[in-house]
Amino acid sequence: MFGSEIEPVPRVFVAPQRYIQGQGVLDHIGQYLSLVNAKRAGILISRRGQSADGVRIIESLHKSKIDPIVTTFKGECSIDEIALHVDSLRNESVDCLLAVGGGKCVDAGKCVAYRLGVPVVVVPTLASNDAPCSALSVLYSPEGVSTGAEFFPDNPAIVIVDTGVVANASERFLVAGMGDAMATWYEARVCMQNPNARTTIGARPTLASCAIGEVCAQTLFAEGEAAAQAVVSNAVDAPLENVVEANTLLSGLGFESGGLAVAHGIAQAYTAVPAVNDNYLHGEMVAMGTLTQLMMESEEEARRVAEFFCKVGLPVHLGQISLGTNDTNEIETVIEGAMAWPTVHNMPMTVTADLLRRSIMDAHGLGLSVAESMGDGAYRRLQGLE
Ligand SMILES: [Zn+2]
Repeated sequence: MFGSEIEPVPRVFVAPQRYIQGQGVLDHIGQYLSLVNAKRAGILISRRGQSADGVRIIESLHKSKIDPIVTTFKGECSIDEIALHVDSLRNESVDCLLAVGGGKCVDAGKCVAYRLGVPVVVVPTLASNDAPCSALSVLYSPEGVSTGAEFFPDNPAIVIVDTGVVANASERFLVAGMGDAMATWYEARVCMQNPNARTTIGARPTLASCAIGEVCAQTLFAEGEAAAQAVVSNAVDAPLENVVEANTLLSGLGFESGGLAVAHGIAQAYTAVPAVNDNYLHGEMVAMGTLTQLMMESEEEARRVAEFFCKVGLPVHLGQISLGTNDTNEIETVIEGAMAWPTVHNMPMTVTADLLRRSIMDAHGLGLSVAESMGDGAYRRLQGLE
């Protein structure tokens, strides 16, 4: 499988300098910041976050004699919003930036820190996506439509994940993170097998990133349901710790150095459809993209994954992302968007609009039959439909 062809393109593996995960780590953040020699820390955090996690973080910073300078995240990782925070922090002589929140806040924080020339410390408060560990940010228009990505020379200096905080967030976020993380192995595998494929940083994947992606998927299959259950009862247990690591660290390392394919091309393209973008999370769109990609490869594996998605409550057919097979305009928008997303061409076969259309419909058909036989209770509960 891992052929011995000559590779003029080098293998590259990138990672954050340090990853710290555990219950209550938020209360020790001041100590961890000694790793970047912080004296004045900028904090990018939403208004809502300030009254919750923000209080604990600032208290910990004060204990370590670090001055916090807060800038309020308004909700979009757009060039406009990034400029706003850069302006507000430019004359504050901060020596690092903490990005505290969900995926968009984390990605915006990386952009702000890069422009200020300071290290970024990522503090995800949800395990809903794999943005925290990577050296790239996905950019959006002010309306929230994906417009591309920005790449940085360095990965975050530190990633700090408090599993107690994740356990207190909604189950839907952890499950969405599983949707994002499950794609990692399937996308990395495609890139490894196709000598013409390139990772997000333009390199060849390493064995390490593929192995990480595979362990990520195995962890989800084995412990995903139990971890979701832990979040329902706000408990931190071994399955939750493992799945948070899968969603955040394993998925992050796996996608960045292992490469992406159709799953993320489709997911990013769904952001151009308001009915989807306004109501569904990144990981939920990736779940739909993963089923589409797998229908190009192996129906058997697609079924296995659809059954897992169905159990934890991820969408498996178009109806579960507010679309139907008759929504031709929306589906054509997705196909057009995906075709323009370079990672779809990492697939071993030539990817055409026709193939994407057929695979979206095949995945929809499979998802419908899986949802009919297994029931859609978990999906409905997560979406607040009952
Ligand atoms: Zn993703």
